[in-house]
Amino acid sequence: MNTQDILQSIAAVQVSILRHEPDIEALDRAIGDGDHFINVRRGCEVMAELSPSLQGLTPADALNRIGMKLLSTIGGASGPLISSFFLSMAATLKGAAEPDRRQFAAAFVAGVDAIKSRGKADLGEKTMLDTLIPVARLLVRLNEEGASLADLCVAAKQEATQGMLATRDMVATKGRAHFLGERAIGHIDPGSKSCEVAIHAVCDLMT
Ligand code: ADP
Ligand code: MG
Ligand code: MG
Repeated sequence: MNTQDILQSIAAVQVSILRHEPDIEALDRAIGDGDHFINVRRGCEVMAELSPSLQGLTPADALNRIGMKLLSTIGGASGPLISSFFLSMAATLKGAAEPDRRQFAAAFVAGVDAIKSRGKADLGEKTMLDTLIPVARLLVRLNEEGASLADLCVAAKQEATQGMLATRDMVATKGRAHFLGERAIGHIDPGSKSCEVAIHAVCDLMT
């Protein structure tokens, strides 16, 4: 995984997020304040604008620049959470010119852990973490088992979709949806959906 792969992933995520506007938009309108799609789209635009200036940087430096920029540009609850994901990945990959799959998985795990500690949330609270945590655990397990990249991508997509769908039956204990109590049941969490879309886009790109 080099910086070029990261920049291609960003472009693929942007295309996919834009394609899923209606679903993501509707979900935050149902159990949030309706701006999640706008926040995520803004994040994608910022990354795309930054991309040319990241060519030639190490993956760690590129991810660090992305995280810093997102921190100052995406609003909402999701902005600081997503930016902490990138900053923590960057810190983990520091010094690796071309990280291998294990290093990349470790960085992904660290990124997800950063979201957990910044948002003070964990699995089962009806947030983006319900998509991200199962995928992080899977990446570590399949890398240890020596799975092929193709198998890993198929499994990561399944896990992301399952995690996202599981939020439908949850009561939210974090974020705006927690004010709704039981009324949030029956609705998928918008952040878990946008993360699922992003994970599918990256996995599709790599296979
Ligand atoms: P806001 O709620 O401020 O309008 P967004 O709409 O952009 O921000 O993002 C909402 C999403 O952020 C939720 O769907 C949820 O997935 C995620 N989220 C909110 N609070 C937390 C938290 N404490 N930890 C993890 N994710 C969270
Ligand atoms: Mg919102
Ligand atoms: Mg908002």
